[in-house]
Amino acid sequence: MKKILMILIVMALALTASACNDASMEQVQQTAVAAPSPTIAVATQAPTIVPTSVPTTVPTLIPTTTPAPTPTYIFVGQVMCSANEYVNIREHASTDSEIVGALPSGESADVIEFLDGWVHISYGRTVGYVSSDYTIRLCIPDVPVPMGEWAMILVNPTNLLPEGFVVELADFEGGQVDSRILEVATAMFADAKKAGVDLMLVDAFRSEATQSAQFEAKVQQYIDKGYSRADAQIKAATITARPNTSEHQTGLVLDIVTPTYTKRNSGFADTEAFKWLDENAHNYGFTLRYKEDKQDITKVIFESWHWRFVGVEAADAMKVSGECLEEYLGILD
Ligand SMILES: [Zn+2]
Repeated sequence: MKKILMILIVMALALTASACNDASMEQVQQTAVAAPSPTIAVATQAPTIVPTSVPTTVPTLIPTTTPAPTPTYIFVGQVMCSANEYVNIREHASTDSEIVGALPSGESADVIEFLDGWVHISYGRTVGYVSSDYTIRLCIPDVPVPMGEWAMILVNPTNLLPEGFVVELADFEGGQVDSRILEVATAMFADAKKAGVDLMLVDAFRSEATQSAQFEAKVQQYIDKGYSRADAQIKAATITARPNTSEHQTGLVLDIVTPTYTKRNSGFADTEAFKWLDENAHNYGFTLRYKEDKQDITKVIFESWHWRFVGVEAADAMKVSGECLEEYLGILD
């Protein structure tokens, strides 16, 4: 103990004296290093550990202790209470669950998710579940939205259209579509108009010959820019699909713009027409096929104008999950 005290005194004296004396400072440092002392180590380390550990733990604690902010929901439609007086809003999707509110007869609520027998809703400040027996779905066309395996066909660069594929076509807005989606596509355009939004069809069904011609024209554009034919084909395929890899050949696709913005480019995403489609098209069974954040999977650029019919169930699910069709179907290359 005496020895330690001595060292401390020597250190203190040396420090006060060493301000203008490099040699003595060096010596002090050497002494300090050469004299390991458990007592000093504990005494000096303890206070240093506390301040360094506090600032690192505090920031990590804050987010976990702060209550989660109100989640942002993406609504997939609306339901209206069809009960005589009201329907209970419950905390969970079960009749055993606590009642957290009521949705009065004739009132509508935003839908977060449709479940089996229950609807997850947001009504005013109340979020909970109502029985689907006492609600009717709004924001869907009066015509039934068709469904079936045919609507789930995957056509992309690695999943070619089946050989001999034929589809019965119907005229729609100056183009042609699979006749099974004519009614619902008509309803979607009409409902948009009622909401003050003009949708304009610029492309729908394409025959194999048309697709070949369009692809070839795009290839030529790149060749003109100086690309080799092989490279031009690769570049072109990210914008215009090769024959038999285009969804347009299914008749289930609508390329939609608006009279005030007729270009099929990224600017369409800023229009009211896109906003309406983004909020409502899933109610008619249409999905935004080539999403901005899924280009690595679809291998196609973000196409805000290209809407693909998949049926309501799949369109709703992809609207909520943000998945693209390849992910939804679990068919990833
Ligand atoms: Zn398209």
